[in-house]
Amino acid sequence: MNVVFLGPPGAGKGTQAARISACYGIPHIATGDMLREAIARGTELGRLARSYVDRGELVPDEVMLRLVEERLQEPDARGGFLLDGFPRTRPQAEGLDALLDRMHRRLDLVVFFRVPQETLLRRLVGRWICRAAGHVYHEDHRPPRVPGRCDLDGSELYQRPDDRPEAVARRLEVYEQQTAPLVEYYRARGVFREVDGAAGLAEVTRRLCAILDEAGMGRV
Ligand code: AMP
Repeated sequence: MNVVFLGPPGAGKGTQAARISACYGIPHIATGDMLREAIARGTELGRLARSYVDRGELVPDEVMLRLVEERLQEPDARGGFLLDGFPRTRPQAEGLDALLDRMHRRLDLVVFFRVPQETLLRRLVGRWICRAAGHVYHEDHRPPRVPGRCDLDGSELYQRPDDRPEAVARRLEVYEQQTAPLVEYYRARGVFREVDGAAGLAEVTRRLCAILDEAGMGRV
């Protein structure tokens, strides 16, 4: 099964994708995580991506398409993938279609996470992440037991530079302008589904599983 999670930043795509990936045994491919890793390692891609990511701007389409093309050719993605945070623009969506064509594959599902703007803002600016493993906390609804420390591995919590208020505002604007139109792009096909991303975590997972089960995706 080849699946895309589509939706605004802060919609919970990453959290849900990690759960779904474990449950259905397909790799979770999060382009934002790949870029952050490249930035942390100081690779050529990381140096290029940094200025865009920190400001909440999109990394150029050609760069992203090349990155995803390489990733989809890895052995673990042969049996299916769960893309999170890609595609984000019309050229990326068209590029993905062309790439899948060349690989004699196609998208089976595009799930759109619908969440109101005010909820997104609140979620993003209160988010803190652990340095060691990326565990996610939130000031309001999932505070760590010890402030500034991860409950699971004790590592330091940090705020993503792009979760600061100016960058969050820009990311939401970029989403509206460039990514939101993809809803219509995919809705026109039979593969489009929608979930209420403002529901509770467990409830969203339950609904996603129902969608994937109905599409015939097997659990591990
Ligand atoms: P995310 O973790 O998905 O919110 O992504 C964090 C940042 O990485 C975004 O704000 C962009 O700067 C960059 N990024 C991630 N995925 C893409 C993409 N598909 N196209 C362009 N930039 C991206």
